[in-house]
Amino acid sequence: MTFSVHGLAVSRGIAIGRAVLVASSLGDVTHYFVDASQTEQEIARARVSRNAVVDEITRLQHDLPKDAPQEISALLDVHLMLLQDEQLINGVKHWIAERHYNAEWALTTQYELIARQFDEMEDEYLRERKADLEQVVERILRHMKGAASPMQPAGQGGVRAGGSRKQSQQDLLLDDTMDVPLVLVAHDVAPADMLQFKQSLFAGFVTDVGGKTSHTAIVARSMDIPAVVGARSASQLIQQDDWVIIDGDAGVLIVDPSPIILAEYGFQQRQGELERERLNRLKHTPAITMDGQRIELLANIELPDDTLGAVKVGAVGVGLFRSEFLFMGRNGKLPDENEQYLAYRKAIEGMQGLPVTIRTVDIGSDKPLDKPAGRAQDVHLNPAMGLRAIRWSLADPPMFLTQLRAILRAAAYGQVNLLVPMLAHASEIRQTLSLLDHARAQLDNRGTPYGPVRLGAMIEIPAAALTLRLFLKYFDFLSIGTNDLIQYTLAIDRADESVAHLYDPCHPAVLGLIADTITECQRQGKGVTVCGEMAGDIRLTRLLLGLGLRSFSMHPSQILAVKQQVLRADTGKLKLWAREVLESEEPGALL
Ligand code: PEP
Ligand code: MG
Repeated sequence: MTFSVHGLAVSRGIAIGRAVLVASSLGDVTHYFVDASQTEQEIARARVSRNAVVDEITRLQHDLPKDAPQEISALLDVHLMLLQDEQLINGVKHWIAERHYNAEWALTTQYELIARQFDEMEDEYLRERKADLEQVVERILRHMKGAASPMQPAGQGGVRAGGSRKQSQQDLLLDDTMDVPLVLVAHDVAPADMLQFKQSLFAGFVTDVGGKTSHTAIVARSMDIPAVVGARSASQLIQQDDWVIIDGDAGVLIVDPSPIILAEYGFQQRQGELERERLNRLKHTPAITMDGQRIELLANIELPDDTLGAVKVGAVGVGLFRSEFLFMGRNGKLPDENEQYLAYRKAIEGMQGLPVTIRTVDIGSDKPLDKPAGRAQDVHLNPAMGLRAIRWSLADPPMFLTQLRAILRAAAYGQVNLLVPMLAHASEIRQTLSLLDHARAQLDNRGTPYGPVRLGAMIEIPAAALTLRLFLKYFDFLSIGTNDLIQYTLAIDRADESVAHLYDPCHPAVLGLIADTITECQRQGKGVTVCGEMAGDIRLTRLLLGLGLRSFSMHPSQILAVKQQVLRADTGKLKLWAREVLESEEPGALL
């Protein structure tokens, strides 16, 4: 039966595909695709872990004291029976062989399917066996963890591998053909996991939680595929393999759509593709307004390879390389100097002589390292206000020096801007500059060559926006991180869907801070960029131009649409109008 679920529209477009549920009641399970050549090995890994649990339970049963209650032995029998259950075994094989899921993901997916069947049983005794199944699956997962294979995302072919269906007797709710688009439905996806999925072919994303500028939403947007976050109980309501339409413009999901609805959305999807093709023609057009102002459209990237997409859409540089993505998803093992240097150099070379702004690591808050590293940020109750970004870096000088040396070395290969996130205090600025000098001295002592960098600070804490003179004294340029600036000005958690309606980029206080920052930079002849999500939002392009902004940094997928707005704009007229907007009680209503 068709039904709809509402959430937040975070990445535009329409996706139509079958649901792949990665939500699991079994806690922290890694999800990745294994390469086609590795599926047999992965099935063997699942089998070895299951057999180990069978042995474990058999041993337990054998060692039971004579006077142990009968129920315990009966319970172990049930567990053994569940472990031998064909539906579980064949289902796991199926998900690995046909969908190329890793063993943990295959097991939890099959668990969810069987658990739903238990839920629907009339008989209370049978219904309660779900808890036993969960215990059994948890045991297997524990074994898998012990013998875990490294996280290895498969290449492009991973998720869509076709091939004949091996088993037919199981009701896996699947079509015979696997060659259909897939949409990912999850309670939440960590930014590090999103990076894994970046390599796969998901046509869309849905999560129960998250706000418009949560990092999961940002990564979805960078992949340029439709996404809806904050869809509350979507992962409970949608079942494995349901057909789902994701309307990323309206923030709506339609589950199990009727043929008429499918046809309508199919039409809209094709219209969207045509619009994209039209925008593509602007690739080589310089971004100059009608009144002759040249506007700089830069790219935000997460990984060095993202420069390919940036160059493809005609970005004139990278305005924000979120270097923390090199640090995540590595079980807490941080990249060393050489690894980082090679990654930064790759990004610089990828931009073919255009400038690259590398932001020092911004770990913490909704971008944790995936495994607790035993640092304070892992236990703080309010991580957005805790040890994140530059605070995290300054708390670990050797780690920070390693990153600074790597960036300085890479700067020998092109124009590099070094950008520091989340600064608020003069003492933090001084410490950062002193560590930068120290990093240079270390390289000098080693005789290692390095290049010059322009130095920039992010304005993303209101305190920074209110003490611009301090920042402009020490830095060559500023970059306004509106995602955090809004969060901290309005006291709205950017990742919390329950307050997403109050997360307002057009609040007069936010616009006032942005306007003052732009004006002051212009007055002092310093560069200023907006690199938060506001820069890529076409509804705000005219306003930002009117406020005097001439440099925008956004995901490559947004550049051409913003360029279209720029080409139609007259900054002289917009300046007068922006003043009116700034003075309004409800600026958003004037856009
Ligand atoms: C911002 O806060 O606007 C920003 C660009 O940084 P991030 O989104 O990575 O916190
Ligand atoms: Mg930020």
